[in-house]
Amino acid sequence: MKTTNSSSQPIPLHALHGVGPSRAKRLAELGLATTTDLVHDIPRDYEDRSTIRTVAHVHAGEKNTVRGHICNVQLRRAWSRQRMTIIEGRIEDETGSILVIWFNQPYLTKQLLPDAEYILTGLVKSTTRGLQMQSPICEKVDSHKTPTHTGRIVPLYSLTAGITQNQMRYFVTQALERSLPVTDYLPSVIIKEFHLLPRSVALRALHFPQSMEELFTAKRRWDFDKLYILKLLNILSRKSFRTQHAPALSTQTDEIKTFVARLPFQLTNAQRKCAWAILQEMERPFPMNRLLSGDVGSGKTVVAAIAILNTVLHDYQAVVLVPTAILAQQHFQTLTHFFQQTPYRISLCTSATKKEMLRDAEIIVGTHALLEDDIAFRNLGLAVIDEQHRFGVEQRKRLKERSGITNMMPHLLSMTATPIPRTLALALFGDLDLSMMEEMPKNRKPILTRVVPPQKRKDAYQFLREHMDRKEQIFVICPLISESEIIEAKSVEKEFEHLSKNIFPQYRVAMLHGKMKQQEKDDIMRRMQQDQIDMLVATSVVEVGVDVPHATVMVIESAERFGLAQLHQLRGRVGRNNQQSYCFFFSDSGARKTLDRLAVLVKSHNGFELAEKDLAIRGAGTMYGTIQSGFGDYALELFRQPQLISDAQKAAKQTIEKNMLTESPLLRKELEKRLDAIHLE
Ligand code: ADP
Ligand code: MG
Repeated sequence: MKTTNSSSQPIPLHALHGVGPSRAKRLAELGLATTTDLVHDIPRDYEDRSTIRTVAHVHAGEKNTVRGHICNVQLRRAWSRQRMTIIEGRIEDETGSILVIWFNQPYLTKQLLPDAEYILTGLVKSTTRGLQMQSPICEKVDSHKTPTHTGRIVPLYSLTAGITQNQMRYFVTQALERSLPVTDYLPSVIIKEFHLLPRSVALRALHFPQSMEELFTAKRRWDFDKLYILKLLNILSRKSFRTQHAPALSTQTDEIKTFVARLPFQLTNAQRKCAWAILQEMERPFPMNRLLSGDVGSGKTVVAAIAILNTVLHDYQAVVLVPTAILAQQHFQTLTHFFQQTPYRISLCTSATKKEMLRDAEIIVGTHALLEDDIAFRNLGLAVIDEQHRFGVEQRKRLKERSGITNMMPHLLSMTATPIPRTLALALFGDLDLSMMEEMPKNRKPILTRVVPPQKRKDAYQFLREHMDRKEQIFVICPLISESEIIEAKSVEKEFEHLSKNIFPQYRVAMLHGKMKQQEKDDIMRRMQQDQIDMLVATSVVEVGVDVPHATVMVIESAERFGLAQLHQLRGRVGRNNQQSYCFFFSDSGARKTLDRLAVLVKSHNGFELAEKDLAIRGAGTMYGTIQSGFGDYALELFRQPQLISDAQKAAKQTIEKNMLTESPLLRKELEKRLDAIHLE
């Protein structure tokens, strides 16, 4: 059957009316080269200009849309500035007329026709000459078609210099004419079952919706597609992972029981449950790919240690990969402690000694850099990846190549302390299995948290002095590195200067931020760990997960700049031992809302709960901006729609189960654009 689908041939934008070489170049800057690109360039926002008021009922001080004839059009020069032209006229409908005024658009005198009808949208002000509409958008009424720029819900596009919203709408209108309908890649069964708009209808409505309801259903289709594709990719990625082989490691119950009995503490139920799930999974002959998510201090390391023990008991090696050298050092110490009664050797892999150690030791701790180099393990059975959120496909590939076990993939256990609400985690990490530790070890003293008003700052400083005198250490976190003229918030450099010179000259104050060299940063953190620094002024980059046992006070400046989950993370850097610890929020914004938001942290010490609240207040984009998820902010916003996520999940499952993929070459093509990532494995 022949299709008449015009979209199969991409039409270059200069074929459109009004697009010459220079505008084509500008549009190219926006990533728009063809009419198909334009059709898929969804507006960033909309303005509802569909309510038309009669002239007698316009609201002063607001934008209004009116419809009528324009009469008495006159051009005059401004008195003060000779160059400025002013066009004045009156817009008149059956209820009366008001003044309309435009600046520097002299051509309007010729364009505005006395007999024609116009729709105007603009700000109405009340002046000494009565109500006056200023610089309105103006569109001539054409009885044969709906208006484009006003009198309707109007799309607003992301622009670049030299292109206006009006031009953009004009180009998009033409592109829709020439490139629609597009063929729909969704199987028609799915469209029907989930009550979705056909793709072409949705695209048209996303640009020029007839109503808010239509816009809503069009957006639903658009969002559905994104989630559906993501879910399909997740399923395919999982499937491809399942076709790989891994060593099947049966659970060595007796040895594990002995190991656990020797620990200096009792495992929490959550730790037991998670460890069990992990051990079960490692018994199967295909690789585990699991994310262990648990609040700061929930005790993930020991869970990993149990998995490591079971691996080395089978004569396979285990590696722990962490983001920084300092964290590697810390894990090395912890694991050495846990494994001291076992015969297993642990090595900390620093660059010089790498090669021999990789073969000799059973347990290797190192940074991700370990994978960069030309190294090889003897027989790697398990890789634990700490604080990296997402172990890339590329890294998995390297791990496999270097594992030393032919044709097999090691088991993978990722760990993160970023509290991620379950719905979001499932959407973000749908290709991973998920273990959540929603319980803290008992007898942990909650960190005493206070929002400190500006007038109490002096008292707070005295409190800090007393604690430093008792050999306790303090973090001071600022949002910025250097002072900014645009953002009103404290900076590390300035605060360090001020605190070290003016407030605490007799103490050892240091600073740490992301622009410093790695070596310098490691050095500072080491000195902090070894009690050689009393107060560390830092950005929020203070290495995740680093244990500074004698740090008892966390001070956060310009606290309103951080999300709740992030503040909770920062707070987790103190309270690592059994001393009472404190967290103080300073905020120069006295706004009620800010204080209320911060006060939530005074009461709640549950990272997951705080993450849910943050998600509700600020949206996923701002909250997880730092997660290397590979999804844009827009995609993150999708995850606030649990119903849609579950629909997309159902649809994706059906698609695979009922083999719809084989019957739908277009959908396959759509997936293949993103499938490279999976094939790499
Ligand atoms: P995180 O989950 O943030 O990585 P860690 O594994 O570093 O947490 O554990 C934090 C601290 O809690 C460590 O000092 C660890 O020894 C201790 N810990 C772990 N599990 C328990 C437990 N069940 N009871 C008491 N203390 C524990
Ligand atoms: Mg940790």
